[in-house]
Amino acid sequence: MPSALSWFRRTAFLPPCALRPLQRDLHLAPPWLLDDYIPRYHLISSIDAAKKRSEAYAHLRECNLCPRLCGVNRYEKTGVCLIGAETVKVNTIAPHFGEEPCFQGHNGSGSVFFSGCNLRCVFCQNHDIAHQRNGFDLSPEQLAEWYIKLQEVGRVHNINLVTPEHVVPQVVLSILHAREMGLRLPIIYNTSSFDSLESLKLLDGLVDIYLPDFKVWSDSTSKRLLKADNYTETAMESIKAMHAQVGDLCFTADGIAKKGVLVRHLVMPGKEDEGKEIVNWIAENVSKDTMVHIMEQYFPRAHVGKPRRGGSKDEGVVEPGGVPAPEGTKAKIRYEDINRPVDLSEVVSVRKAAEKAGLWRFVEAAKHGGFNI
Ligand code: SF4
Repeated sequence: MPSALSWFRRTAFLPPCALRPLQRDLHLAPPWLLDDYIPRYHLISSIDAAKKRSEAYAHLRECNLCPRLCGVNRYEKTGVCLIGAETVKVNTIAPHFGEEPCFQGHNGSGSVFFSGCNLRCVFCQNHDIAHQRNGFDLSPEQLAEWYIKLQEVGRVHNINLVTPEHVVPQVVLSILHAREMGLRLPIIYNTSSFDSLESLKLLDGLVDIYLPDFKVWSDSTSKRLLKADNYTETAMESIKAMHAQVGDLCFTADGIAKKGVLVRHLVMPGKEDEGKEIVNWIAENVSKDTMVHIMEQYFPRAHVGKPRRGGSKDEGVVEPGGVPAPEGTKAKIRYEDINRPVDLSEVVSVRKAAEKAGLWRFVEAAKHGGFNI
């Protein structure tokens, strides 16, 4: 809970000189400052925990956990994500220092990179993990043991589940198991936003921080570059549901985020207009107090820039999915239009649009050398 009242109680009897250094150093913003934090998975009753367990198993028997709606019994066969029911495939588990400062803090974010994905982004920035399905198989119980190791040995600030959309039931079981084992860290659900509402309902009460990526705006772009027909509509619905569960991003006084939503948008070359639509939508439909990370690190990867199989130079380019590439795209290279790093001017124009729309909480290097909260 935001703790304006408790902050006031703590500070009301201190002389002004005692308050000033604290405010200046930490940029305290009482509505988003928490006195203390208990992870949500410790607040649900054992009856609700048992219900979540049985719902998780039921979903695996008829999987509708993402908008692909495969409807398969994952104990017998796999759907589009190619991951079964008993275990998850994990590529890396480690303290990670490549996340936002409010997640990585001084000791790192306890990241679990799941292999496999329910999207097929042609520019995937984690291609070797998400599309190659490298890694090792872990049961929910083994996953829970890793969370405890990250907490006890790594002393990380949170458990950060990266690309978990297709393994939500196993993740739910692992969190419930870990709570019995003494896990005390907030859970981050780090997602492409291609989630179903059923899946988010299952996670309600277990996830503390939602870290959704809002990738592209137009349906033709999502069809061509993500290989998904209904990405944008799904992302809008999902992010609204996430915000309804946990609200805007809140911190404890050490500058570490504990609860809420942080939306990421990776600006893509030539697609700043889509970025502007996305930030406008966030301001109008989620909250103007949404913490936003406008990311500039796009780099051509995966299928982008690869030689095109077959075809002549004179042919019009039609990418997989049947969507014609923009006019002028050369025939010999795949996805030529996004085959370059993003330009700083494109990032700046999305940022300006975000400010104009009323957003003001951005992830950026703190001017005071600490964390921006
Ligand atoms: S999680 Fe996998 S099996 Fe389930 S609907 Fe999505 S792609 Fe299909």
